[in-house]
Amino acid sequence: MNIDKIKLILADEPAYRMKQVWHSIFVDLIDSWDKCTTLPKVLREKLNAEAPLEIACEVFGSQKSRSLKALITLEDGNKIESVLLSHRDGRKTVCVSSQVGCSMGCTFCATGKMGRERNLTVGEIVVQVLFFARYLKSEGKENNRITNIVFMGMGEPFLNYDNVWKAIRIYNDKDGLNIGARHISISTCGLVEGINKFAKEPMQVNLAISLHAPNDELRSSLMPVNRLNPLDELMFAVKNYIAKSGRQVMFEYMLIDGVTDKEIHAKQLIELMDNKLFVVNLIRYNPTGSHKSSSATAIIRFKNLLLRAGIKVTQRQTFGTDIDAACGQLATKNKKK
Ligand code: SF4
Repeated sequence: MNIDKIKLILADEPAYRMKQVWHSIFVDLIDSWDKCTTLPKVLREKLNAEAPLEIACEVFGSQKSRSLKALITLEDGNKIESVLLSHRDGRKTVCVSSQVGCSMGCTFCATGKMGRERNLTVGEIVVQVLFFARYLKSEGKENNRITNIVFMGMGEPFLNYDNVWKAIRIYNDKDGLNIGARHISISTCGLVEGINKFAKEPMQVNLAISLHAPNDELRSSLMPVNRLNPLDELMFAVKNYIAKSGRQVMFEYMLIDGVTDKEIHAKQLIELMDNKLFVVNLIRYNPTGSHKSSSATAIIRFKNLLLRAGIKVTQRQTFGTDIDAACGQLATKNKKK
């Protein structure tokens, strides 16, 4: 499915046609133009031939957790991955990709090992959510809709800034998917320029920082971005964002056995978390070959140290490790060129 092609075909039609089509795609969630009966037959046939609504995709379901991974084939043959996470409280979150691969090179991340191929277009970002919206509709259950979106899939969203924001406006459109800005989060590995730009955005989208290490030496060894934007610059930018927005910021912290989960790391993290609007989200490392996961005991010990120091802490539920859909595991294994 190519949204740009659809817009091009409808460019010479009266304005109300685009409204009808938009409603059919994003509210009725049609997957074939034959179902868009408000359009004249000739136009339906043209759209079917030149801009079909099918999304080329393979789906993998997790046996162990309530997650589904979609491997989407793009028009140029590249593949990207998106994940649907069904939470126990009823929320349905889609984790979307913003790039094919990623150039940031974090050592613990499968996507980082692929390198960056290219940025995704607005349409390619949007179809990831649309695919799962259609999927949930096909299950035929009541209130079975996407509630949250996180930019935590393949790629660094701030390196594809404009297209990510255009896609967010489409997700947020009240005449379409109507997903509230406060239910959308962008996660960055810590690009200060992007955070500064984000701080000026009027929409109340959430900011998350992939921190993963509490000192410069360790962070630079795991995340090359830290050499460009070390921790003092990063924390300054985040505090500036909070001063402007008054909004909470989530710091993702991955617990890697013997690397980031020692007592000294907890103490350093406590020192960094010196703002009441900071929240730490602890993530158990999902093996991608380079490191080992922390033990359950080490995670509890680490979490308790933070809690005792008065830090707000959440712990991410692990989803989809058996289908390589968990955090840091997304990487297409059979990219076609
Ligand atoms: S963790 Fe994020 S920023 Fe780092 S390499 Fe992976 S996808 Fe890129």
